[in-house]
Amino acid sequence: MHLSLTEAQTLVQKTARDFAARAIAPKAADIDKHGKIPVEIIKGLGEVGLLAVNVPAGLGGSEAGVVSYALAMQEVAKACASTAVTMAVTNMVGEVIAKFGTDAQKTYACPKLASAEWLAGAFALSETGAGSDPGAMRTTAKKDGDAFVLDGEKMWITSGPYAGVFVVWARTGDPATHKGTRGISCFLVEAGTPGLRVGKSEDKMGLRGSSTSSLSFENCRVPESALLGEWNGGFKIAMMALDGGRIGISSQAIGIARAALEESIVYAKDRKAFDHAIGDFQAVQWKLADMKRDIDAAHLLSMRAAWLKENGKPFSREASMAKLFASEMCNRVVNHGVQIHGGYGYTREFAAERHLRDARVTTIYEGTSEVQRIVIARNVLGPS
Ligand SMILES: Cc1cc2nc3c(=O)[nH]c(=O)nc-3n(C[C@H](O)[C@H](O)[C@H](O)COP(=O)(O)OP(=O)(O)OC[C@H]3O[C@@H](n4cnc5c(N)ncnc54)[C@H](O)[C@@H]3O)c2cc1C
Repeated sequence: MHLSLTEAQTLVQKTARDFAARAIAPKAADIDKHGKIPVEIIKGLGEVGLLAVNVPAGLGGSEAGVVSYALAMQEVAKACASTAVTMAVTNMVGEVIAKFGTDAQKTYACPKLASAEWLAGAFALSETGAGSDPGAMRTTAKKDGDAFVLDGEKMWITSGPYAGVFVVWARTGDPATHKGTRGISCFLVEAGTPGLRVGKSEDKMGLRGSSTSSLSFENCRVPESALLGEWNGGFKIAMMALDGGRIGISSQAIGIARAALEESIVYAKDRKAFDHAIGDFQAVQWKLADMKRDIDAAHLLSMRAAWLKENGKPFSREASMAKLFASEMCNRVVNHGVQIHGGYGYTREFAAERHLRDARVTTIYEGTSEVQRIVIARNVLGPS
């Protein structure tokens, strides 16, 4: 793993940084306040190649690799965490289709995701009773002639209301023999398919610009060609996608934390108390020092996981370590950020409180901190 970036990676990072500073950051407070990401931001992400960063160019993607993707995610998350999660899930869905889809699925769906012709892709795994334990899912898909019929409910689906396509997991095995994570298949379901209904958006603490909704499938018929990957082989696809997704969320957490640190530095130099800038006080300096140290440590863990994935090496444990450390780091850093801003940090006048709300979910989605520790511990302990 090289610590310096290639020219191509630097270019993606700069493209994302410039776009985020120009088109996203000035609107971030409004996105949070009004709970909506302007369509032109999503279209703009497509135009600068950030919606399918690790998807082959032949399918409309940027083919810029995982390190570039992680760097771009940091830049977008630094400007607006809601936009970043929307971007992350679309990238994840594009990668899943590019990796496991048939030629027809890839050539149909990937260009639409990359260009934002479909405003987003959605990843529909979780259910009310199946979050950390996706093997408990109850949504079913049954074969009926030359179609599959989906029935059930999904929960917490990022971009549900504006996604053009849903990657949906459902039970397909014989209930007597295929329990838990066995007997699950994966399907591509287009928005507007009869029988698919998108529920209302959740009223969330943070990431308020990103819509998170339930989905219901009632006698929802999709053609045989909607099966993604192997029959009863869907769980493996979900786990592989989540491993990659964790690199995205570690990057999101780093981006949020970087915003909190930069704003705290500005404030610490400007705000006076006892005839001094508060940055003159060691108590504040130590917070800033810890924030910077932790962000850099998370960045290195995240870059290592991204490099391993990009180079085709095992990366599941490293992705979990990066996600676990970065998300918990982010929560500490944004908390320091609010503290440094004093009473103003508790108001909407500064972004510090938005960062605190946005950061909170990073230890929850794409596998909670507890689940990441399970993944890491199983890996270090080896088979029992
Ligand atoms: C804003 C947001 C967006 C999301 N987007 C998506 C999406 O696009 N697609 C999607 O499929 N899902 C999505 N999710 C769902 C998310 O992945 C789940 O919320 C998460 O996996 C946790 O599942 P749960 O909420 O059911 O919590 P539970 O699984 O019920 O966990 C509750 C608590 O118990 C702990 N726990 C559970 N099992 C264990 C164990 N074995 N050992 C120790 N502790 C344990 C958990 O760590 C947690 O602290 C999203 C969630 C949120 C909040």
